[in-house]
Amino acid sequence: MVGKNIDAFCSRCQLTLAHIVLYEVGGAVHKVKCKTCGTEHRYHGPKPEKKREVPTERRHGGAAATAKRPVRPADARQWEQRNTAAAPDVVTWDYKLTERYEKGDVISHPQFGRGFVEKITSDSMEVLFREGRKQMAMNRRPAPDPA
Ligand SMILES: [Zn+2]
Repeated sequence: MVGKNIDAFCSRCQLTLAHIVLYEVGGAVHKVKCKTCGTEHRYHGPKPEKKREVPTERRHGGAAATAKRPVRPADARQWEQRNTAAAPDVVTWDYKLTERYEKGDVISHPQFGRGFVEKITSDSMEVLFREGRKQMAMNRRPAPDPA
């Protein structure tokens, strides 16, 4: 009701004080006048809305950026252990389909990086890469020379 006294927060006095309603829209008070300082201002209610401090979660950004592929944590951990335990001057073999590798060999794969040969059969091996174990072919016959 216009002209009515209402408690409102005065932005100039920085206090909740008696105001006079100046303007209403659909029953909602829009504009008031501070009875103390005479300032006309929008009606904010008895107290200003407190901005809630929402804790921002920024911690996740860093880890998410590096881990793209899903890695089995156990494999990654084991890989780290192997990598740490490996002698710094350990011979790292480039991965070649035709090469024959032994258990315990360290290989370098162009896509998967450093890998540790875990198991071998006559023509394949299980290699522990950082992103997981993979079955790799080895000891395959080279493609016959075009005669
Ligand atoms: Zn005031």
